[in-house]
Amino acid sequence: MPGEPSAPADTLRAFREQVFSEGILHEGDTIGTDDETLFFDLKASKKMIKDCQDWRRTVEGVGIDELYRRIDPFDYPEREAVFDCWPMWFHKTDKKGRPLNIHYFSGMNLPKLYKECTPEKHWQTVLVNCESLPREILPAASRKAGKPIGTVFVIVDLKGFGLSQFWQMKALARNSFQVSQDYFPETMGQLAIVNAPSTFTAIWAIIKPWLSKATAEKVDILGHNYKDVLLKLVDADALPTSLGGTCECPEYGGCHMSCPGPWLDGRVGWGPGNGKEPIYTSGSTDESQATTAASDGTPESVAKVNSDETG
Ligand SMILES: [Zn+2]
Repeated sequence: MPGEPSAPADTLRAFREQVFSEGILHEGDTIGTDDETLFFDLKASKKMIKDCQDWRRTVEGVGIDELYRRIDPFDYPEREAVFDCWPMWFHKTDKKGRPLNIHYFSGMNLPKLYKECTPEKHWQTVLVNCESLPREILPAASRKAGKPIGTVFVIVDLKGFGLSQFWQMKALARNSFQVSQDYFPETMGQLAIVNAPSTFTAIWAIIKPWLSKATAEKVDILGHNYKDVLLKLVDADALPTSLGGTCECPEYGGCHMSCPGPWLDGRVGWGPGNGKEPIYTSGSTDESQATTAASDGTPESVAKVNSDETG
């Protein structure tokens, strides 16, 4: 490739060894094993890193670090409404030490949520929730397991979930998948879909193309007889009763509100334990406190959520 800077030979060799040892390329593959294509892939992954860093610097007009400083994913004024109407929460860990990320789709209620939280603010909570994964959730799970934990076990409960709800949340769910796939890649270790209704085949046909091939292969679709399967992967006391376990988290108003797990060790309430007081405590009646937090917590510049969500 004239004019192109060439990768140092040892960089390319190390890259080659890695893609072969991880089974991404194989001896005898008819395409992709020559130096030129490998160099192209190397540049593509550099571009991915660059895109990701650009996104991190600019997202929502302030960048993810500033957004995370303004909104604590475990502790913000609209938390109860968001956890109630957009139920996707972390809850303890599975037998491998991976955090459980439970999605309760039939609880999705955007019209109700938007009465208490603007779509812009909600989208920002989705973003900081993604960011909490590499920043707090996975490091804490790794510390507890005493080994690197790089992925989560996602359980999607479709009990009572209807097609009309799917259309209501489709655009937002797709945007969330996109962010998670593009900027937090390879963080889903396994996905179990439980209580899948017969209509799910139609929904799955729509969702599947959103997922990378590697991700789609990690998906188990389970109907109503899922409990034994889940209990092989998750201890009963780490699994909410609604999914066949024994956990109820009564002290925090139920598993879906509690976010229990090693990531809460050392945190003040739900707030970060790094010296910052929680800006909002669930059940707090101190309205001046909540108001201050809201005005502090709203970025001056809010990027518009994808237009197809509102359209
Ligand atoms: Zn629980």
